[in-house]
Amino acid sequence: MARKRNESSWHVEPKPPEVCVLCGREAPNLTDHHLVPKSQGRRQGVKLGEIPTVKMCPACQGFLTKTFSNAELANDLNTVEALLAREEVQKFVKWVQKQPLSKGVRVH
Ligand SMILES: [Zn+2]
Repeated sequence: MARKRNESSWHVEPKPPEVCVLCGREAPNLTDHHLVPKSQGRRQGVKLGEIPTVKMCPACQGFLTKTFSNAELANDLNTVEALLAREEVQKFVKWVQKQPLSKGVRVH
């Protein structure tokens, strides 16, 4: 029973690393975060496809959802700059940057 050796077939494409817009970590499972919560966008007559999205890790996304209301996110915090200007976000980002990516961060 000879095992097939396949080591040389690995070819890693150089890809720009995607990082979370808030914490800047190269999280393996970044999601498209809608800067305006979808339900709020609908209320304001914004089409889903027109809501800007940013790459965000699940930890940061969960934090935002938990910390701010949809109305706040839609009206006051609909840019990355506005989010990062908030003290709560700065504190969270500082903390989450120290957490290993392999460990699921529980924010709920
Ligand atoms: Zn993040």
